[in-house]
Amino acid sequence: MATAGKVIKCKAAVAWEAGKPLSIEEVEVAPPQAMEVRVKILYTALCHTDVYFWEAKGQTPVFPRILGHEAGGIVESVGEGVTELAPGDHVLPVFTGECKECAHCKSEESNMCDLLRINVDRGVMIGDGKSRFSINGQPIFHFVGTSTFSEYTVIHVGCLAKINPEAPLDKVCVLSCGISTGLGATLNVAKPAKGSTVAIFGLGAVGLAAMEGARLAGASRIIGVDLNPAKYEQAKKFGCTDFVNPKDHDKPVQEVEMTNGGVDRSVECTGNVNAMISAFECVHDGWGVAVLVGVPHREDMFKTHPMNFLNEKTLKGTFFGNYKPRTDLPNVVEMYMKKELEVEKFITHSVPFSEINTAFDLMLKGEGLRCIMRMED
Ligand code: NAD
Ligand code: ZN
Repeated sequence: MATAGKVIKCKAAVAWEAGKPLSIEEVEVAPPQAMEVRVKILYTALCHTDVYFWEAKGQTPVFPRILGHEAGGIVESVGEGVTELAPGDHVLPVFTGECKECAHCKSEESNMCDLLRINVDRGVMIGDGKSRFSINGQPIFHFVGTSTFSEYTVIHVGCLAKINPEAPLDKVCVLSCGISTGLGATLNVAKPAKGSTVAIFGLGAVGLAAMEGARLAGASRIIGVDLNPAKYEQAKKFGCTDFVNPKDHDKPVQEVEMTNGGVDRSVECTGNVNAMISAFECVHDGWGVAVLVGVPHREDMFKTHPMNFLNEKTLKGTFFGNYKPRTDLPNVVEMYMKKELEVEKFITHSVPFSEINTAFDLMLKGEGLRCIMRMED
């Protein structure tokens, strides 16, 4: 590549301040250093986690910053020590990594890599503590090691999954966060048995992917819970059999009797701590398992009576659906290629990258599921 080893000037959407519209700027992207890869992003989507850190209401403000973590791209160049990726490889960036050497990476149970696990407050590369983005010499911070709202970005090799080059990046980009997260939360963590009853809290893309997991696992009853009544129609396409709007009841949803003693599994995909508590308390005693996926506010505390645990209700949580990004994500892409998993139904909008603020507006209004931004238009 003619650009290897050189600074690349390209367009990026910069968040200068909390809650202010992003502005498309020309940024300089430094070459990748040891164990890093520079990626040309072709498509990026917007996940609610980007919105939380842009609003920075319940999160640490780190600005100016290039957000974005759900995307697909092609390797432009690699830094020293990178052997498993080469220019031209198709990759999905992941906000949490896999070094393949630590105790977590060696454990079959964990995807919480010691070196590269998600860190929402760090705005620099782990190698040298510096940013690879700048504007007229001013550093611009990274976000969760991915910063995909840029035509080029620099990512640690451990946060990149090499995927089948035949897979259409404009579709499988949504597997790089939300859809795999929801799917894995159900299939890998909640593990509902065939014929069971599953409640899904929050019917955005992540929640509906969790619902897809429940459908694939053969759940016979799938209860969707959302504050937005419009979400029910959409959820029916994902196998939702019942819908509850907490606003329609004068008591907490966990006290609304719909099942004989509670659901077998619940998966929370809202980010709201009260929904998390409801998701836990609504599971059946003796065997019920609740899985938390939503990203809470910095100061949230989860409060429940300890008797719930004695009564054998289980509470779990997961990042990225317990998938190991490099080992497992290529297989999730293959599920799509073999038509075992549909991703098209999660993609409700598509805009050119220059209209990225439209994607933020859609998410804030609760419209649609995923909005794909095309870098080249
Ligand atoms: P989204 O905004 O599209 O969907 C969230 C849904 O939750 C909305 O439909 C909203 O109406 C509903 N909701 C909000 N508060 C609620 C409440 N109290 N009760 C019931 N429903 C409520 O967001 P998304 O992109 O689907 O992401 C969902 C959550 O998952 C976010 O918190 C996001 O940060 C988190 N997330 C976590 C991981 C992970 O690895 N753990 C990965 C990706 C996203
Ligand atoms: Zn995400």
